[in-house]
Amino acid sequence: METAGLDEVEAGFLARRWWGAYTCGVIMSANVASTVWTAVRQCLAGLADLLLPNLCAACDAADVSDAGLCSQCNVDLLSLVSLAYCPRCGATVGPNIPVREGGCWACPNPLPRFAEVIRLGPYARPIRSVVQALKYRRQEAMVARLGELLSQGVQAKCPDRPPDVVVSVPMHWRRRLIRGCDHARLLALAVAGNLSVPLGRELVRVRNTPPQVHLPRTRRIENMRGAFAAVDKQSLAGAHVLLVDDVTTTGATANEATRALLAGGADRVTLAVVAKAEPPRAYSQHLSQE
Ligand SMILES: [Zn+2]
Ligand SMILES: [Zn+2]
Repeated sequence: METAGLDEVEAGFLARRWWGAYTCGVIMSANVASTVWTAVRQCLAGLADLLLPNLCAACDAADVSDAGLCSQCNVDLLSLVSLAYCPRCGATVGPNIPVREGGCWACPNPLPRFAEVIRLGPYARPIRSVVQALKYRRQEAMVARLGELLSQGVQAKCPDRPPDVVVSVPMHWRRRLIRGCDHARLLALAVAGNLSVPLGRELVRVRNTPPQVHLPRTRRIENMRGAFAAVDKQSLAGAHVLLVDDVTTTGATANEATRALLAGGADRVTLAVVAKAEPPRAYSQHLSQE
């Protein structure tokens, strides 16, 4: 009985070790495959840039303007930019609903730590295509265009107190290695240049976090906890920080980054994003009314 019990324990132990080694191997294989695929994709994209004519970043049309979009996608982009949105969470607000400084019905409770959001539009085409393209390819013209539009938004929304420093939501070095570039940093650089404000490195990512895409809001908050830290607290003291990222969904990432900046001595944080991810019903009917 005792022997049989030991055998069961040992068999269970061996099974767990085998399963652990197997799953570890699968995860490592998936990581290696992902890295190789990304490298191949970047090579192909670079080759396409060399061989193919300059195409619209959103629809591949050939009549691309200097900003990296065709004329129709430029019109569509400006329709998205013209939509009214909540200054606390970035959600689209209907044309007949007053925009309230205190927030909207879609705002999270409690409200985010950042003081306000400046966004270009909802995460819809052509903005969605552009953001996806930015993640894997350097699109200087598009980064410049988005940086210009975002800085115009900052100047319009923060006329009395312009930011003292611009920082981007930092990417963990492992993800940056895979992607090949930090597109949020490139956007922040463009915004800082337009606003004539220094681009800082006061915010660092101290912990890598799994992708947020399929997580509900509460899991996203837990996932991001402790992911960021502020360094060079002297330059943050009393500062109005403009935090730049590509997309916000629930605001959990920006909220955690803001927590680190405020703990580091910043006085106020404004979030500037290219897109707010929200259900299509939030903006589609307002677009058709344009
Ligand atoms: Zn286009
Ligand atoms: Zn809101």
